[in-house]
Amino acid sequence: MEFLPIFLNVKGRSCLVVGGGEVAARKIALLRQAGGEVTVVAPELGSTLRESLSRQEIEYRAGHFEPDDLDGRHLVIAATNAGGVNAEVAAEAQRRRIPVNVVDQPQLCSFVVPSIIDRSPIVAAVSSGGAAPVLARLLRARLETLIPAAYGRLARLAAEFRPQVKDKFRHPPNRRLFWERVLQGPIAEMVFAGQEKAARDALETTLASESGEPTKMGEVYLVGGGPGDPDLLTFRALRLMQQADVVVYDRLVAKAVLDLVRRDAELLYVGKERDNHAMPQEDINKLLARLAKAGKRVVRLKGGDPFIFGRGGEEIETLAQEGVPFQVVPGITAASGSASYAGIPLTHRDYAQSCVFVTGHLKDGTVNLNWPMLAQPQQTVVFYMGLKGLATICRQLTAHGVSPDMPAALVQQATTWRQRVFTGTLATLPAVVETAQPKPPTLIIIGEVVKLHEKLAWFEPHDGSRVCEW
Ligand code: SAH
Repeated sequence: MEFLPIFLNVKGRSCLVVGGGEVAARKIALLRQAGGEVTVVAPELGSTLRESLSRQEIEYRAGHFEPDDLDGRHLVIAATNAGGVNAEVAAEAQRRRIPVNVVDQPQLCSFVVPSIIDRSPIVAAVSSGGAAPVLARLLRARLETLIPAAYGRLARLAAEFRPQVKDKFRHPPNRRLFWERVLQGPIAEMVFAGQEKAARDALETTLASESGEPTKMGEVYLVGGGPGDPDLLTFRALRLMQQADVVVYDRLVAKAVLDLVRRDAELLYVGKERDNHAMPQEDINKLLARLAKAGKRVVRLKGGDPFIFGRGGEEIETLAQEGVPFQVVPGITAASGSASYAGIPLTHRDYAQSCVFVTGHLKDGTVNLNWPMLAQPQQTVVFYMGLKGLATICRQLTAHGVSPDMPAALVQQATTWRQRVFTGTLATLPAVVETAQPKPPTLIIIGEVVKLHEKLAWFEPHDGSRVCEW
């Protein structure tokens, strides 16, 4: 190793920063986050540090660096743009054995400042020893995505319970096993989801139980899988999918998304095709509760967002009634995915100040909707499940006063490699679609904003270059 990684306690300790510009300001912010007391020496201060000074966050001596500035310091950072000054600071500090960092000049440093992932009290630091700081930053960005934002809260909860756990498990290997279960299991997920009280209760119950084994109750995660492109999953969705014992999914979940589920998870298809429900909703609700009660971590994976035409509400109502813990992870809904990937902004200063999502599902051969409300000007209307009802939808809107020339689009399999966008007007779209025979799922967008598609389309699907996404 070029450098020994250590974490330094600078709380209440005097640190010197030479230089008053923006680079110095960033280092000072870091020192202050760790509780350091910072004195700045520089002929003048940049705007950020002038503000810090006015808030009395730093001490300031106006002037050029002098060796006496090092008296009583625990740490020094040289961040001037004058090479000679930086070298002088480094030489003088090294002579006095005070740890010194010179920004971007590892050969002058006795310590380097790593890229930091701060989930205090958990802190991870990445360093390339000055060899490739950009690489260290890239790695840091990857780690940021892997470590849930609430990791620090989890650490604090663990700290709170440490004495009790030590009491209960005298034998260190058992203690370690206990913590491993807690920190990777449903209790940790509760903390990440902001259910801290539930997490604390569960930890107490687990600890109070005879064996210290986690209680047998599992949990259900109602997860939005997005419109198709797996890159559109949330970090939390991906993490839960990779921890699941069982994944209950339906037809709308793209194969590429399903591929990201933990390999040994059991996959249960409860498919739902239009007019052909593979499993009645009530049975799905009960299945989820039963699996969780058997101690499983169940991911109920749904296309798009679970709370938008997803019947997610019904599924968790049953869970709530039966006392099964659950959480809901939002996903990118088809309207957002289709609009973005088709280059059709759903609102626009000139064309639409509101946007409505409705279901165009046919009931007894008709679409029963509040047509006067949907026919308002300066509004975008998005129809989910509208393929079969397209002709009716266009006819009704025209009948309620919308111009037959109103632009309209139908987006097939949005965000996937089989995406296609068909455009026309209320008068022409049904015929365009009739000829094209699009593949489900499809979404209809109606409004002036559709005009922008021609200019703003950016996504280039390679139709047929991949296997079917659904
Ligand atoms: N909960 C889902 C919607 C479920 S309703 C969501 O938030 O997206 C099912 C309807 O969603 C389909 O009939 C279709 O209209 C739409 N849909 C879902 N995924 C789609 C996709 N990738 N492209 C186009 N439409 C999609």
